[in-house]
Amino acid sequence: MSVEETLILGGGLAGLAAGWALAQAGRRVQVLEGADEVGGLARTVARDGFRFDLGGHRFFTHDARVEGFMRDLFGDDLVTVARASRIYLRGKWIEYPLRPLGALSGVGPITSARILLGYAAANLARRLRPAPLVSLQDWVVAHFGRPLFELYFRDYSEKVWGVSCRDISAEWMAQRVQGLSLGSAIRHAFLRRGAALPTLVDRFLYPRLGIGSIAERLRAGIERSSPIATGTRVVRLRHDGRRIEGVTVRRGDEMHELRGESFLSTIPLTQLIQALSPHAPVEVRAAAARLRYRDLVIVAVMLERERATDQTWIYFPGKDIPFGRLHEPTNWSAAMAPPGRTLLVTERFCFRGDATWNAADAELIDATVHHLEKLGFIRRREVLDGMAVRIPAAYPLFEVGYQERGRVLCDYLGRFENLQLAGRGGLFRYYNMDQAISSGLAAAAALLARDTRMPAAAAAGGAP
Ligand SMILES: Cc1cc2nc3c(=O)[nH]c(=O)nc-3n(C[C@H](O)[C@H](O)[C@H](O)COP(=O)(O)OP(=O)(O)OC[C@H]3O[C@@H](n4cnc5c(N)ncnc54)[C@H](O)[C@@H]3O)c2cc1C
Repeated sequence: MSVEETLILGGGLAGLAAGWALAQAGRRVQVLEGADEVGGLARTVARDGFRFDLGGHRFFTHDARVEGFMRDLFGDDLVTVARASRIYLRGKWIEYPLRPLGALSGVGPITSARILLGYAAANLARRLRPAPLVSLQDWVVAHFGRPLFELYFRDYSEKVWGVSCRDISAEWMAQRVQGLSLGSAIRHAFLRRGAALPTLVDRFLYPRLGIGSIAERLRAGIERSSPIATGTRVVRLRHDGRRIEGVTVRRGDEMHELRGESFLSTIPLTQLIQALSPHAPVEVRAAAARLRYRDLVIVAVMLERERATDQTWIYFPGKDIPFGRLHEPTNWSAAMAPPGRTLLVTERFCFRGDATWNAADAELIDATVHHLEKLGFIRRREVLDGMAVRIPAAYPLFEVGYQERGRVLCDYLGRFENLQLAGRGGLFRYYNMDQAISSGLAAAAALLARDTRMPAAAAAGGAP
C-alpha cells in the first residue's frame, strides 16, 4: 500500500493540468490512468509515421490563464491552421461557416429563401408567443426556423447523439452555440463584423505533431517530480461517508490498494458513483444509471497519395454515410504523415455494445474505404493501412432531465471533503480542451488553497 498526498483519477487534459499545477507547487501527486497512454480524448495515435487525433482537435480559448499555460508549454512551437470546413448535404458541398455564394449555390435560391423565411417566422413567433424550450428541437426551431432544423440540424444531431432531437436538452444547445444565432452567423459571413464567435473562428493553433503533444508535455513536467501510472484502472473508492480513504486499482491481473489525503476525479461521473464502496444511496445510483455517455469509433485510412481534400473538417449529416465527420490531419500539420502520403480520419458516433462498436476492425475499415471512394476522395488501390480506435464516454449525452440527475450526483459527492471533480466526463459538461484544462487548474488551486501546510504563494497560484 502506498500513500500519496493527492491521487488524480484520469490522465486526460483535466487530470494532467491539475497534476502539473500541483507538482509545480511542490505537492506529491500520483496520476492514475486506465489506458496505456495519457491524453484521454485529446491524444494522438501514431503508427508507421502516420499520426492522427481522435477526431481533429483545434485549440482555441478566451481564457487568458489557459492561453498563458499553452504558451508556457509550447513557446512558439505551434502551427497556425486556417479553418476550412464543409457540409456534405444531399449530394452538395456547402461551405461552413456560411459564405454568401457558397450558401446560395449549395442549397439553391429556393431553399435559401425558405430558410430565411423560416428564420423570420420563428423570430416573430418567439416574440409573439414565447413557449418553453425543453428539447433541442424546440430550441433550434425557435431560433433558426423549421426549414434549417429539418435541412441540417435534425439529421446531424440524431447521428451524433443517437436519440431523437425531442429527447436532447434545449439547455445543452443554448450552451453549445454560446450566443450563435443565424443572424450572427450571417452577419459574420456577409459583413465580417463583430468579434469572432467561438464556433466560427477562422484560424487556430495546433501542435506540429498532433494535439497529443499537450498531454505529452504535461506528462514530462509532472514526471520530473511525481509518478504517472498508466494501464492502471480505478475500480473502487473506499470511503467513510465523509472522506475518501483510498482507491483500488487494477493493473493487468493484479489489484492494488492506494491511499491518499485528497482525491481529484476526472473519470466519468457515473463510473465514479458506481465505484464507491460502500455503495451510494439507491436514489443516487438510480440518477447515475439514467445519465449516459455517447461513445465513438474512429476509423483512420492511410493513403499512398499526397492529399485527399483541402479541408480541416467535413461534416456528413446524411444517414446513408456511416461517419458523421472526417478530417485530414496533413491539412492541420504536414508532419502528420510521411512525405508524399496522407490519411483520412472518420468519426462514427455509437453506443458501446451496438453494431458499430462491436463490428470487426476489418469490416469498419472496409466500409469506410467504400464510402470514401464513393464520395470521390480516394481510390481503393491507394489504401496502405487502416485502423479503428474505440473511445468510450466521448460525449456526455444531454438528454432532457440531465441537469436534475447531475445535481443529485454532485450534491451527494459534495459531502466528501477531500474529493474534487474536474473535466468533461468528470463533471458531465460539454467541455472543450481549454475548459477541461481550466477545470483541472481550478481544482488544483482549490486543493492548494485548502492545504494550510503549503506556503501562501503556492496556495494563491495554482497555474504554472
Ligand atoms: C471527437 C472529438 C473531437 C473534439 N474536438 C475538440 C476540438 O476541436 N477542440 C477542443 O478544444 N476540444 C475538442 N474535444 C473535447 C476535448 O477532447 C475534451 O474537452 C478534453 O480532451 C477532455 O479532457 P478530460 O481530461 O476532461 O477528459 P478525458 O480526456 O475523457 O480524460 C479522462 C481520462 O480518464 C481515464 N479514465 C476513465 N476511467 C478511468 C478509470 N476507471 N481509471 C483510470 N482512468 C480512467 C480515461 O482513459 C481518460 O484518459 C473533442 C472531443 C471529441 C470526442
